[in-house]
Amino acid sequence: MWNIPQSMPDLHGYFGAYGGRFVPETLIGALDELEGLYREAQSDDSFQRALEDMLRTYAGRPTPLTRADRLARHLKKQRVYLKREDLCHTGAHKINNTIGQILLAQRSGKSRVIAETGAGQHGVATATVAARMGLSCDVYMGEEDMERQKLNVRRMEMLGARVLPVRSGTRTLKDATSEAIRDWVTNVRDTFYIIGSVVGPHPYPMIVRDFQSVIGLEVREQMLRAEGRDPDLLIACVGGGSNAIGLFAPFLQSSATMIGIEAAGLGLESGHHAATLTRGLPGILHGSRSYLLQDDDGQVQLAHSISAGLDYPGVGPEHSALKDAGRVTYDSVTDDEALAGARLLARLEGIIPALETAHAIAYLEKMSPDIADDALIVVNVSGRGDKDMTTYARP
Ligand SMILES: *Cc1c(COP(=O)(O)O)cnc(C)c1O
Repeated sequence: MWNIPQSMPDLHGYFGAYGGRFVPETLIGALDELEGLYREAQSDDSFQRALEDMLRTYAGRPTPLTRADRLARHLKKQRVYLKREDLCHTGAHKINNTIGQILLAQRSGKSRVIAETGAGQHGVATATVAARMGLSCDVYMGEEDMERQKLNVRRMEMLGARVLPVRSGTRTLKDATSEAIRDWVTNVRDTFYIIGSVVGPHPYPMIVRDFQSVIGLEVREQMLRAEGRDPDLLIACVGGGSNAIGLFAPFLQSSATMIGIEAAGLGLESGHHAATLTRGLPGILHGSRSYLLQDDDGQVQLAHSISAGLDYPGVGPEHSALKDAGRVTYDSVTDDEALAGARLLARLEGIIPALETAHAIAYLEKMSPDIADDALIVVNVSGRGDKDMTTYARP
């Protein structure tokens, strides 16, 4: 039905024209080893049992699919549902992936894990599972982000992780990721790199997608039970793209409409935004080919979003392919629209969402006139808003 392959990526790690492995020679062996480890784990019942058990008894899965009747009435729609990743342990979907990867790390026999983090949510989720498994953990974080997200720095430290400040470049997520890759190149023998979104060299975009697909698989089951059919419309915010692909992947062959929402920051024309798919061009960053915010000379541009979790100039290669194929639509909302979206959900449903999630809520309200009244709508609530309260409380 759709002009996309049944299974992506291909054997070389490409999603259409995107993905691949653009890394130093020393990492090729490590990436091959990781892919082998992952393929083995996929067909190993004991691994799958350990994964399911940890998702259920530690992360709190399955998360609810909440019917949002006051929001639906406000939008003049019959049915709106919220997938509640905000109720996961540590407060966001990130833990789904770190649980999967820490089990791979354990299987690899390596004693140390590293991660990059922007807002600190992935860093916290990694420090959490590293503590649980008794592995040592170093997290790279830009100095600027450490300042903006002090609470998450304290959480990581309390969990026993070392937070390594990154002082290069803009001192944000892009630079932290470069530093983590550099560490991995140097210490690849004893170190497992837990990447936080569907980005990086193959096989990471595939592995992270698969671990996050638990979101969409649960939605399919929960929706069948509640409504007896698949949803018509799925909406999720897109930073690197992991919560969005986690919701979308199980429905790619269905007839559902899917929309990924990027951060338009101060506005698409302002030059201060993070709308990579809406405004970027194909290029190479952090080991793979994908849409990228870049200037005319191909230099990576600064991203801006009020939400630190969306403030990244790249995006996952699979989203790039889905955009080109026309299977998923990508659009964006501004900082101000997102703030209004967060307030709307808080007042109507008693749920304070993460600023990232607020972008998806804001878009639903904005596009509401174009949606059929009887559409079955699902919005992914990727995380809770505690970390964003200082921003929300600003007059
Ligand atoms: C990290 C984060 C995001 C953005 O990352 P994706 O990989 O695009 O999902 C979105 N929402 C929350 C709550 C996050 O913590």
